[in-house]
Amino acid sequence: MPKVTETSALPEVRISGRGASRLQSGHVWVYRSDVESTADLAAGVLVRIADHRGKPLGTAFYSSSSQIAIRMLSPGAISQAELPGLLRQRIRDAVAHRKLVVRDTDAYRVVFSEADFLPGLIVDRYNDLLSVQFLTQAMDSTLVRETTLAALREEIQPAAIIERVEPRVRELEHLPLRESQLLHGTTTNTVFTMNNIKFHFDGLHGQKTGAFLDQRENYAAAAQYARGEALDVFCYQGGFALHLARHCEKVTGVDSSRPALEVAEENENLNRQANAQEEIEWIEANAFDLLKDYASAGRQYDTIVLDPPAFAKTKRDLAAAARGYKELNLRALKMLRPSGILVTCSCSYHVSKQELQDIVVAASLDARRTVRLLERRGQAKDHPIVPTIPETAYLKALILQAI
Ligand code: SAH
Repeated sequence: MPKVTETSALPEVRISGRGASRLQSGHVWVYRSDVESTADLAAGVLVRIADHRGKPLGTAFYSSSSQIAIRMLSPGAISQAELPGLLRQRIRDAVAHRKLVVRDTDAYRVVFSEADFLPGLIVDRYNDLLSVQFLTQAMDSTLVRETTLAALREEIQPAAIIERVEPRVRELEHLPLRESQLLHGTTTNTVFTMNNIKFHFDGLHGQKTGAFLDQRENYAAAAQYARGEALDVFCYQGGFALHLARHCEKVTGVDSSRPALEVAEENENLNRQANAQEEIEWIEANAFDLLKDYASAGRQYDTIVLDPPAFAKTKRDLAAAARGYKELNLRALKMLRPSGILVTCSCSYHVSKQELQDIVVAASLDARRTVRLLERRGQAKDHPIVPTIPETAYLKALILQAI
């Protein structure tokens, strides 16, 4: 009898000892420099991972172009035929987890890539719309896309699903360029609510997948301390400013993006209450220049929020990023009235929680202000953190009082 060969057997990729110990420590990435054999592997295929002696380590997605060559899917053996079922189960689990951790909003991250064991997939919900990003060769394959979309429709029944494309990511993954597009349904616009505040959502425009959902719980926390005159620096579409407006006499939002400020103003109108509070002032400016001018003009505030874009995109940017964070925090601390509140954030993964705190403390010494640390915060719970994958924890927010 001829031996039955397993025709569906996956190609094997052997990795170095360093790669294997990375997996042993609970991480799910193997860098290309730790891959020993990739004989003729096609882009985005499912592969078996083995150490250099051939001991099986699990099943992964392969990328032929990214420095992250391997993203683990399971420490066990998964066949090609089992893949759709596994993806559907992980999506069901992700949806169920949000039922446990999400409150006071109809906008939240439904799938957070590696943190939901679905590497390369991001799904955000905005009311009845879903915004989806397929970020790797494997996630962008027809089978995976179709399985994912079918599972999302089944679990959530969204009115529409929009694909958001980040051109830079597709370039890195050597994927053909594609426009953001509607994949299901007929509308790309809606209004969503977080902490009882309404926001416009336009699925084909704006930054990220439309809003900074990771700050949702920090908006509510900041609002608890906010009072008096407030300044929201890097305000985008008004996330913090609109929350502060419920508690402050006067709010000013600053951003360099005019389109973002136009939406911010529309969001303000959406939330205008019958007993009309004072209008929020939206200023288009470079935050560094504006803070410098305002500080030297002797302006003062009771509450200041700093939520800059990621200054350290890579480790190499760290020194320059630290200078940027320090300058912003120094100027803000100088402008705070006695007992004023500073909410200061960093979404740079490469700047650690402790580093951010050290930078702010150094700024407070230069500003001759003693600070009290009221809260050390991170990203909203719908962006889960897996400690063995440190990259899943990236957002830091400190709430301080400057005496
Ligand atoms: N706080 C916002 C998110 C901020 S994202 C929220 O909660 O929704 C960072 C913002 O900084 C973006 O809107 C971007 O347009 C703006 N930005 C980037 N560089 C800037 C600069 N030098 N001066 C002012 N705004 C800047």
